[in-house]
Amino acid sequence: PRLDRRLLEHPPKGVSAPAYDRSALTSGIVHVGVGNFHRAHQQVYLDRLFSMGDDHDWAITGAGVKPYDAKMRATLEKQDWLTTVLELDPAGYTARICGAMIDFAEIDAGAIIAAMARPETRIVSLTITEGGYYLDAKRGGFQADHPDIVADSRNRDAPSTVFGMLIAGLVRRREAGLAPFTVMSCDNLPDNGKVCRDAVTGLASLISPELGDWITGNVAFPSGMVDCITPATGDRERKLLQDTFDIEDASPVVCEPFRQWVLEDHFPLGRPALEKVGVEFVPDVGPFELMKLRILNGGHAAIAYPSGLMGLRFAHDAMEEPLVRGFLEKLEHSEIIPTVPPVPGVDLDSYFRKVAERFSNPKVGDTIARLCLDGSNRQPKFILPTVADRLDAGQPVDGLALEVALWCRYCAGETDDGAPIVIDDVNAERLNKTALEARSNPSAWLAMGDIFGLLKDRTPFAEAFAKALNSLWKSGTRKTLETYLSG
Ligand code: NAD
Repeated sequence: PRLDRRLLEHPPKGVSAPAYDRSALTSGIVHVGVGNFHRAHQQVYLDRLFSMGDDHDWAITGAGVKPYDAKMRATLEKQDWLTTVLELDPAGYTARICGAMIDFAEIDAGAIIAAMARPETRIVSLTITEGGYYLDAKRGGFQADHPDIVADSRNRDAPSTVFGMLIAGLVRRREAGLAPFTVMSCDNLPDNGKVCRDAVTGLASLISPELGDWITGNVAFPSGMVDCITPATGDRERKLLQDTFDIEDASPVVCEPFRQWVLEDHFPLGRPALEKVGVEFVPDVGPFELMKLRILNGGHAAIAYPSGLMGLRFAHDAMEEPLVRGFLEKLEHSEIIPTVPPVPGVDLDSYFRKVAERFSNPKVGDTIARLCLDGSNRQPKFILPTVADRLDAGQPVDGLALEVALWCRYCAGETDDGAPIVIDDVNAERLNKTALEARSNPSAWLAMGDIFGLLKDRTPFAEAFAKALNSLWKSGTRKTLETYLSG
């Protein structure tokens, strides 16, 4: 049967569904960026909490600032904002219909600002991708001269960016005598609370310095570390849900059974009691974030590009390929893990073992293509800071330089066997052109200052990179990995 609220009365066998009264929920959270990850993560935690009978005034109103979000909104509306979350446990599938979202603002700045300004909205959360924060990789910090930001600074009543809308929502509350909501970023960025605050205050200061100061002094931006591998949804996933649990959901989410959320406890208007459903509240998420970004996200990057060049399709195929797995393990143990400072209560080697086990889960079906996405945004966050730390400490970076060279070789747009590679990245064209130039002149790749700003003039890295790239072009991916592993 089709998914909508009627299905909740008699959910198909083996499927759990909300037993709480959804019509009695009220919305305390506006979430911008209702993609797959948000539905696999935050919505599941809240759904569990609501199922315990708690905090029914913290349901979610969805929002999207991109015109294409209209499609997701229309899809979810037809199914009463319900999402089926299918967990891909190697031991078997489980499915839960998640009822934590009860509304979705129209895809329109005015409607989104109005939802943020409602008195009952106490948190605005975001999953807007790493690229959504207008970070200036060249100079560091917020890119205040980006055309979108400049436009929003001049047109504060009709913004097009999420930051313009947050500011308009906060101003409207101030005018109405309402305290500001808490802004909770759930994107994969080091220090995501601070990055988000810099974007909001950066734009606000362009509008007026007084407004920037008021936001700095009055709005909370807790940082958080989020984790749950959530692949994109396609026909395979829809069919899997239908075949396994007999549910027709136009936009289900599949994800691994592992889920982690570590949050700073800074919510002046209160928050749901998420600690009851496994969220860890800590004074400083910094060490947890660094561990995750470097070991897990850096690890994803490490398996992505060699696998792409060798024509492998899935993450679990990559983990079955001894050269790719070997590269991941050696890189993590010799170069990545040693740069991660101690994390309270966590053994980093066992954290990595768990990560490797999660990557190997054949049921997740995470594609190499997804892991290869957006390198120009991801490398500066997941790989290059590790390189910089090692160089600062005078340590070798051969493995990391090889990872960057694999990315460069991948961006040349052909596998080792000559099959075409589609580069999915906002900078795809420039990456491709530069990668081809780098074949004879490796320094061209590192000269992309907006990506490699952090590593400017670092000769040992440039040398190791050139050596790795030359080897990839001359001997191919397999031979190059063999040589690295035998070293
Ligand atoms: P998705 O493609 O399903 O959804 C992306 C969402 O981001 C969409 O709702 C889109 O409208 C919004 N968005 C994109 N660019 C934006 C912009 N410039 N401004 C505002 N909104 C924008 O992707 P997803 O799997 O949901 O991942 C989203 C983010 O969640 C990731 O970038 C990452 O930071 C975080 N995350 C994802 C995973 C995962 O495994 N998928 C795991 C941990 C964290």
